[in-house]
Amino acid sequence: MPDIASIRADFPILQQEVHGKPLVYLDSTATSQKPRQVIEALERYYRQDNANVHRGIHTLAERATAAYEQARLKVARFIGAASPKEIVFVRNTTEAINLVANAWGRANLGPGDEVLITEMEHHSNIVPWQLVTQATGATLRYVPITNAGELDYEALDALLTERTKLFAFTAMSNVLGTINPVAELIARAHAVGALALVDGAQSVPHLPTDVQALDADFLAFSGHKMLGPTGVGVLYGKRALLEAMPPFLGGGEMIREVFMDHSTWNAVPHKFEAGTPAIAEAIALGAAVDYLSDLGMDWVHAHEREIVAYTWEKLSAIEGLRILGPGPDRRGGLLAFTLGDVHPHDIAAVLDMHGVAVRAGHHCAQPVHDYFGVPATARASFYIYNTKEEVDILAEALERARAMFAF
Ligand code: PLP
Repeated sequence: MPDIASIRADFPILQQEVHGKPLVYLDSTATSQKPRQVIEALERYYRQDNANVHRGIHTLAERATAAYEQARLKVARFIGAASPKEIVFVRNTTEAINLVANAWGRANLGPGDEVLITEMEHHSNIVPWQLVTQATGATLRYVPITNAGELDYEALDALLTERTKLFAFTAMSNVLGTINPVAELIARAHAVGALALVDGAQSVPHLPTDVQALDADFLAFSGHKMLGPTGVGVLYGKRALLEAMPPFLGGGEMIREVFMDHSTWNAVPHKFEAGTPAIAEAIALGAAVDYLSDLGMDWVHAHEREIVAYTWEKLSAIEGLRILGPGPDRRGGLLAFTLGDVHPHDIAAVLDMHGVAVRAGHHCAQPVHDYFGVPATARASFYIYNTKEEVDILAEALERARAMFAF
């Protein structure tokens, strides 16, 4: 059983005070902190191995290439992919979804076709589909949500039809915390002949993932939310789909041959990695995957469930505090809430004075906030390094905020 004190000792950033109080970092949904193992992997690469990948014969280039490809293999194993060729390194979840929308979408969508998404999506799983459906004449449809913060399954039945070419949905909402039944949703998409794209930005860092067991066609996630550095993310795609898709970005590395009048493409995944990639970041993401694998994703999930259940209990006792989304047994490690009429930015500012870092705003998910009739929420989110004592500090600071704004 991992010990939280030794986990926390791996995160140098947590050993600091903010406004004279110990830092309580409750914003891992936006980005996680990084353990020294990840920071050291970045530093080691730049100190010892820095060279461009795939095109050098010299020793450093070979070392850099081997480490970069090793990271791809680690990521493939972490999510249960059949082959590292199914792992495309991109910048983040946003770029992964844009890649599919542009490369697959422009080649496969036309008038009469539909793309189905949900009302609980992050903007990065909405806007690329708006752009590509507008460009191709296809139609974008949304699965509504319910007051309980779940997908409306009756409406889903009616919306998934033979016109649906792709169903793109989040595995876990970054506002409601709802964990969606991914395997069931994919099976429903497949039953009407649609492909399924899973936005795993909030699930891959926090829950065990097995793309083959899920039968996911595409899965998008970001390194920086799972202990890795910013600047690297992943698109998983079934190999046959990736092979059939045209490239997204053109340039060096993604080509086989370039002639004056046309070019031919490199094999997957390189066909989708134009230009010099985020080499150090990908290697450090490999170190993050090692760290999470050592802890075990079942433990990560169980730890967060315990913390979120405790937080639910503590925050529910605060007068005027309203939590959005389902109960603790149906959600991942985050809680978005309002406190009376206090603006969430004011809540976050007061909490910051107590050393507590939470996020406030619409969290890039305006349709969810519109549904619940609030322009913004404050959000506390948890990861492997958070403790119940930190939740107590959050709850006390919220009581003070309530007293301060006198209601
Ligand atoms: N999807 C979800 C559910 C998210 O929570 C986020 C980020 O918060 C994203 C997509 C976008 O991630 P990124 O900004 O790393 O591309």
